[in-house]
Amino acid sequence: MAGTLATEIGMVDQVALEQEVREFLDEQWSPELTVREWWRRFAESGWAMPSWPTDVGGKGLSRADARVVAATVADVGALGVPTGLGVLLAAPTIIEHGTAEQKARYLRPLIDGSEAWCQLFSEPGAGSDLASLQCKAERDGDEWVVTGQKVWTSHGHLADLGMLICRTDPDAPKHRGITYFAIEMDQPGIEVRPLREMTGRAMFNEVFLDGARVADSARIGALNGGWAVANTTLAAERAGLGSGGGGGAGATFPGEKAGRLDRPCSDFLRTSARGGAAASKAAADPATFMIGLATEYGRAGDVHIRQRLAELYTLKQLGAWNAQRARAGSGRPWGVPAAPNLGKLQQSSITRLARDLGPAIMGPAGLLIGDDAPRGGVVSETTLFAPGPSIYGGTDEIQKNIIGERALGLPKEPGPDKDTPFRELKVGNQRAD
Ligand SMILES: Cc1cc2nc3c(=O)[nH]c(=O)nc-3n(C[C@H](O)[C@H](O)[C@H](O)COP(=O)(O)OP(=O)(O)OC[C@H]3O[C@@H](n4cnc5c(N)ncnc54)[C@H](O)[C@@H]3O)c2cc1C
Repeated sequence: MAGTLATEIGMVDQVALEQEVREFLDEQWSPELTVREWWRRFAESGWAMPSWPTDVGGKGLSRADARVVAATVADVGALGVPTGLGVLLAAPTIIEHGTAEQKARYLRPLIDGSEAWCQLFSEPGAGSDLASLQCKAERDGDEWVVTGQKVWTSHGHLADLGMLICRTDPDAPKHRGITYFAIEMDQPGIEVRPLREMTGRAMFNEVFLDGARVADSARIGALNGGWAVANTTLAAERAGLGSGGGGGAGATFPGEKAGRLDRPCSDFLRTSARGGAAASKAAADPATFMIGLATEYGRAGDVHIRQRLAELYTLKQLGAWNAQRARAGSGRPWGVPAAPNLGKLQQSSITRLARDLGPAIMGPAGLLIGDDAPRGGVVSETTLFAPGPSIYGGTDEIQKNIIGERALGLPKEPGPDKDTPFRELKVGNQRAD
């Protein structure tokens, strides 16, 4: 659908915009469509990623207007864009640092869900201090040969592509010898091994790279300039995690390996499925979810529960306003320094409060797991997964360090000289090389 004159000149009448989206959904959306077909239509229309520039498949709308689109998609009850790290992290990174060819190669399959992504950043010795990473890539003609280990790779077993950072110049200081690639996961040099969590699932993995190959044309950004590219990914991760949820009345994971593309969308709009709409609703709006739960279990009159519900609601509301303020001020002189970090930190508090509230409201029923448990087991799932958000995307302590330095102007943490070659640093008990 072509953009209207209003969108072309950047002045959007939000009533007309909502109408335009509703017309598209009336014509194109049905819960009986396969996920593959719906995501194809959604991507084709430009409404899936309305804030993206038009030349990469978006509508060039402002973030405020894009929120109108997302709210309309949710209101009509349509499935949202693919979950996972492609849309959340790979897309903003490629839009900012990718070449025209890379945008053409990677963005469309990522919005229409035909390819899934994972993030190959953390290593056994490089998490908070990510720039200490040791996985190395060595040039071989038009390709690079990659050797090393990554860990905590969410959905690595379902991914087609990985956002990989590795060391390409050990003689440069640690932040200046890193390069960023988009690596194909299905190849002989890559082994993905699952790590079991206390939820019972194995969402994340260890990934071993032994002579894995990646073309130089899949290098995102400059050679040895990967730290800046990785920071775009990390900023998107913190902003996304702190802002709490996207559009759509349900969500699912992309890619052939997840096996969902040929199922009807209606499978992912149900409220009972574990990891389905109930879970995403609880994660996106924990206050409304918990208030509903307290009402259902006759606990909404309990003063202790009410007190914590009010606290959860307040934190969530403040988080949403801070996210709006951060988006509005981003890159402007009156913007809030370290705003995504503040948002991420607050999300950790919300998660901890939701972790405690669910079982307090439900009692023993809140410990049941599985699809047949009340509310699809989402309360026990939330409780067992609760440590995760305060670790991934940078731990709470790291967020506080960044806020201290960037927002409060405190001195930087002591560390090795920024000009010391990586080869001469000590990582763990050994020299870095
Ligand atoms: C659910 C989940 C999913 C994840 N998914 C991915 C993924 O898909 N891809 C990926 O690459 N990684 C992923 N991670 C890894 C995550 O990014 C790292 O776990 C995180 O960066 C912390 O690194 P670490 O585990 O090595 O802990 P460490 O860095 O060893 O930290 C250990 C402890 O020391 C504290 N600490 C460390 N340095 C400092 C400091 N300078 N000041 C104060 N305290 C400090 C930390 O806060 C923490 O409490 C995931 C993690 C989780 C839990």
